[in-house]
Formats: sequence, structure tokens, C-alpha cells
Amino acid sequence: MIKHDVVVIGGGLAGMRAAVEAAERGADVAIVSKMHPVRSHSGAAQGGINAALGNTADDTPENHAFDTAKGSDYLGDQDAIEAMCDDAPRQIIWLEHRGCIFSRLPDGRLAQRPFGGAGSPRTCYSADVTGLVILHTLWEQLERFKVKVYEEYFCTALCVEDGVGTGVVAYNMRNGELELITAKATILATGGCGRMYAKTTNGYASTDDVKAANGAHNDLGFGQHPGFLDRLVDDQGVSRSRMIHHHAFLNGGALYVNDAIVRVDVLRTIRTGITMGAQPKIILIDLR
Ligand SMILES: Cc1cc2nc3c(=O)[nH]c(=O)nc-3n(C[C@H](O)[C@H](O)[C@H](O)COP(=O)(O)OP(=O)(O)OC[C@H]3O[C@@H](n4cnc5c(N)ncnc54)[C@H](O)[C@@H]3O)c2cc1C
Repeated sequence: MIKHDVVVIGGGLAGMRAAVEAAERGADVAIVSKMHPVRSHSGAAQGGINAALGNTADDTPENHAFDTAKGSDYLGDQDAIEAMCDDAPRQIIWLEHRGCIFSRLPDGRLAQRPFGGAGSPRTCYSADVTGLVILHTLWEQLERFKVKVYEEYFCTALCVEDGVGTGVVAYNMRNGELELITAKATILATGGCGRMYAKTTNGYASTDDVKAANGAHNDLGFGQHPGFLDRLVDDQGVSRSRMIHHHAFLNGGALYVNDAIVRVDVLRTIRTGITMGAQPKIILIDLR
């Protein structure tokens, strides 16, 4: 039996960031991941990461929280949204101080660009590989704090005693053995479950089996990448255009949606047309 203070299941951006925070505070931390952390799906997040730094236009965490609640169709946990948006500027600076190579403005400050659903240009980015760059920054911090990584270990069960998490059972994919890893605290960071949909832009590993097996999903709709219809509708493309015309050619007729809307609204508009009987062979989204 293996013992740690904290065990984090998942080595994506969420899992590695949680592990580093606990390790910085002196805990003995381990990550259990079915793949090498740096190969986690987070590496696909190319567009950027939002924080109300206000480097290119006025912005506040309150505005960020409002846009986030609205972007979630008001289904998101608003206390969690508020906490995340308040903390976001500190998190970006934390990453920058640990060597994360963000793109910059000519005066040296962190660059920020417009992104879908945001009322202000608040997306920090590293060219078009933001997720990958942050994964590598966090991996360096794992090495620095000597966080133990159980790589290619598939978590098959959570251990719970009297309602309290006490560790995990993990399958070592290299030798086929099962390991019991006990911990005082267990953090679930197993990512999304986009792969349960027939079509998705999520990585093949995004099956989120741990939460599914343990009934920990709140709203399955949040598991899918919102920009997906048959191809990814990219937030960056949607929000870069000042006047947006989404022409959904439905049975020869055109459907127009104008405004700085989030991509889930673009998709909803198209889906509504299809539900109403249209059978489009092709849908063209014209961004001007
Ligand atoms: C195409 C695309 C583009 C995106 N672009 C952006 C963007 O620009 N900006 C943005 O903010 N967000 C973006 N997102 C969303 C973002 O990528 C995800 O929300 C984020 O990466 C999730 O991080 P995570 O750490 O929770 O999960 P992941 O990175 O998916 O990591 C999950 C981890 O859990 C581990 N794991 C899972 N199950 C098990 C198991 N049973 N046992 C052991 N380990 C397990 C995996 O090995 C992995 O290490 C995008 C998503 C997609 C699909």
C-alpha cells in the first residue's frame, strides 16, 4: 500500500495546478494519471486563458464573472464563478512568475485579446499553444516540488469510508497490477467527458470515467465542448469580427444572427433551424 497526504487524480492543467499548490504548502502530494500529464487534453486549449488584468481595455473581475455566468446560460455555480474570476489575475501572474511564456504587448505587459462571450479583451495567450505552454510550466513546478507522478496508472475506484475519501485504487497499465494509494485528501481533476458524444473535439482520453463511475457528474451538458457541431466553431474567430453574420443556409434559406454572441448561441440558432425541419447538407458560417 502506498501512502501520501494528498492524491490528485488527473495530471491536466487542473490536476497539476492543485498538486503544486498543495506541495508548495508542505504536503506530500501524488498525481495519478492514465497518461503522462503533459499529454493531457489541456494541451488542445490553444486559444488562451481569461483574467481581468485590464491590459488592453478597462476590465474588472465583476465583468468577467458576469460574462462567465451569462456564457454558462446561467447554469454555472455563481459562487464558484465569482471566486474563479476574482482569483484569475493572481493566477496569471503566478504562472508568469514561474516562467510561463505568455505573448506580450510592445511595452512588455501581457497581451490580451478578445474571445467569445467576453465583453472586454481579457484572454491571455501564448501564441496558439497556450494550454501546452502552461502544461510545461506546471510540469517544471511538479519537478521542483518533487511531486510523485504515477504515470499510466488508471484509477478504477475511489476509496470512501464514512463519506470521507481515503484514497484510490489504480491499475498500473505497465505491469497489470492494482495499487491501493491512500491519502488524507483526494482531488478529482479527471477532465471532461466529451468522448461520450458521437462527435467531439475532445481528446480520446476525455472519457471522465472516474466521475461517471462514482456518480459525480452534475450536468452532462458541461462535458461537451460548446463550439462543436460538425467542426469546431472557434471562439477566437467568432469574437474577432466586429459585425458577425452567421449565415446558416437551411434548405436554401439563410438564417442571420448578428451580435457579439457566444458560440453556444451560434450553435443553438443552427440547431433550432434543424429542429424546425431544415435538413442542411452544409452550414456556412460567414465571419466578417
Ligand atoms: C478543442 C478544444 C479547445 C479548447 N480551448 C480552450 C481555450 O482556448 N481556453 C480554455 O480556457 N479552455 C479551452 N478548452 C477547454 C479546456 O481544454 C479544458 O476545460 C481543460 O483542458 C480541462 O483541464 P483538466 O485538467 O480538467 O482536464 P484534462 O486536461 O483533460 O486532464 C484530465 C486528466 O485526468 C486524467 N485521467 C482521466 N481519467 C483518469 C483515470 N480514470 N485514471 C487516471 N487518470 C485519469 C488524464 O490522464 C488527464 O491527465 C478547449 C477544449 C477543447 C476540446
